[in-house]
Amino acid sequence: MLGRGNSILLQNLRKKTGSVFRHRLQRCMATQASYDVVVVGGGIVGLATARELIHRHPTLKLAVVEKENELSVHQSGKNSGVIHCGIYYTPGSLKAKLCVEGLDLSYKYCNEKNIPYKKCGKIIVAVEKKELPQLEKLYQRGLENGVKDLKILDSKQIKDVEPYCEGVSAILSPNTGIVDWAEVARSYGEDFKKAGGEIYTGYEVTDFTCSPESSRSQEKEAGHTHPVTVCGKNVSPLSCRYVVTCGGLYSDRLAEKSGCESDPRIVPFRGEYLKLKDEKSHLVKGNIYPVPDPNFPFLGVHFTPRVDGSVWLGPNAVLAFAREGYKLTDVNVKDLVDALGYRGLRKLMFKYFMFGVGEYYRGIIISAQVKQLQRYVPSLKLEDVERGPAGVRAQAMDREGNLVDDFVFDGGAGDIGSRVLHVRNAPSPGATSSLAIAKMVAEKVQDRFNL
Ligand SMILES: Cc1cc2nc3c(=O)[nH]c(=O)nc-3n(C[C@H](O)[C@H](O)[C@H](O)COP(=O)(O)OP(=O)(O)OC[C@H]3O[C@@H](n4cnc5c(N)ncnc54)[C@H](O)[C@@H]3O)c2cc1C
Repeated sequence: MLGRGNSILLQNLRKKTGSVFRHRLQRCMATQASYDVVVVGGGIVGLATARELIHRHPTLKLAVVEKENELSVHQSGKNSGVIHCGIYYTPGSLKAKLCVEGLDLSYKYCNEKNIPYKKCGKIIVAVEKKELPQLEKLYQRGLENGVKDLKILDSKQIKDVEPYCEGVSAILSPNTGIVDWAEVARSYGEDFKKAGGEIYTGYEVTDFTCSPESSRSQEKEAGHTHPVTVCGKNVSPLSCRYVVTCGGLYSDRLAEKSGCESDPRIVPFRGEYLKLKDEKSHLVKGNIYPVPDPNFPFLGVHFTPRVDGSVWLGPNAVLAFAREGYKLTDVNVKDLVDALGYRGLRKLMFKYFMFGVGEYYRGIIISAQVKQLQRYVPSLKLEDVERGPAGVRAQAMDREGNLVDDFVFDGGAGDIGSRVLHVRNAPSPGATSSLAIAKMVAEKVQDRFNL
C-alpha cells in the first residue's frame, strides 16, 4: 500500500541504500496517479471550484473525487432550484455579497451554455399587518445588499403578479429565477473535463496523509514531489500537492481527518416538499414566500415553480436521523448518536422545541402543512397536493447551538494542515452563489498554497 507508507519507505530509503529497493519504490510511486490539486466533493461547490482553478491554472493537473457514482446527487441535486436574489442575508456578510454576485454570474453562465431557466420572479408576502415592519426591514436590507429592481406591492398589485395569492403587502424581486442546479453542476463538471481535469466517481475519501516536511528533500531526490496522499475506500490512492474539500454533509468529518476541530459540526436537517398536482400548477406563477419569522432559523415553507413545469411546496425543516436521510425512516446510528450527543444540537432543540415538534407534525400530517400554505393561496385544497421529494441541508452549528450562517474555511494541524483547505460551510444559497464562491475559494487556494 502506498500513501502513508510512502514517507516511511522514503525515510528508510537512505538507510537501506540498495539501488534495487530505490528503483522499486520509484516505480511504485510512478504508478500512483498524481495531481497538483485534488478537490474532494462533486457537488456544485466542488465542481465550480475545480472549474475555476483549472481555468486560472491551465498548466496544473487537477482531479475531482466524488464518493457517489454520479455528480451532484446530494444537496446540489435535491434543492428548491431557486436562483436567489440575496435579500435575506446580513449586509456585509459573504453570504449577501456572494449571492448578489452569484445571481448575475448564474444567468450569464446559463445563457452561454443554453441551460434552461426562468426569471419568474418572487414575492415575499405579508398576510397580516403585524408582519409589515419585518417586510419593510427586509426591503431595506435588500437595498443595502444591492439587490436590483425590488418593489413594494400593495394587495391589488400582488394579485396582478400572482392572481391566486392574497396578502396585505409584498416585496417583488423580479430577478429571482429558477433552474435545475444539478444540470448546472454537471455542466461545470463538463467544463472542468474539457479543460483537462479528471473526475473520479465512486471514490470515497477515507483519509489524507502527508509525508513530513523534514523528509521532503529526500523525497524530491527520489522524484516524489507530491507529498499528500488521498486514500479512498476500495480504490487506489492518489498523490497530490494540495487538497481542497467541499464535502457538504460530510464537510466536518473531512476536516477532522486533517486534524481540524470538530466544530462547527454539521447537523442534517431534512426539508420535505409537497407537490401541486399537475392540473393545479396554474395556481402559482413565480416564487411565493412568507415573511420569515426572525425568531426561527429557516425561511418557512414556500411555493416554488420548477423548470419542468411542476410546483413544489416547502421545504419544512426537521432533524434527519442520517446525514443522507431523505426519508423519515432513514436512520444511521452513528449519525444520530453523533448529532444527539452534540451539545450544540441539544441547545438548539431546547430553544426551538415547539417549533421542531410543529415541523414534524406538519411533515406527517399534510393537512397541517396545507393550512399554512392556504394563508398565501386560500383557494389551495388538501386534494390539490401530493407528497414530493426531500433534500437534506448540511447545517453547520456551533457548540452553543447557533446556526453558523456564513462560510467557514479551515486547514488543519501538522504537515497536512498546511496543504489542505476545507470549505466547511457552504450554506444556502450555495447553488446560486457557486460561481462566486468558486472565485473566492480559488483566491484562497492561490494565497494559501502559493500556486
Ligand atoms: C432542501 C434544500 C433546498 C435548497 N434550496 C436552494 C435554492 O433554492 N437555491 C440555492 O441557491 N441553494 C439552495 N440550497 C443550498 C444548496 O443546495 C447548497 O448550498 C449547495 O448545493 C451546496 O453544495 P455542495 O457542493 O457544498 O454540497 P453537496 O451538493 O452536498 O456536495 C458535496 C459532495 O461531497 C461528496 N462527499 C462527501 N464526503 C465525501 C468523501 N468522503 N469522499 C468523496 N466525496 C464526498 C458528497 O457525496 C457530495 O456529492 C438548498 C439546499 C437544500 C438542502
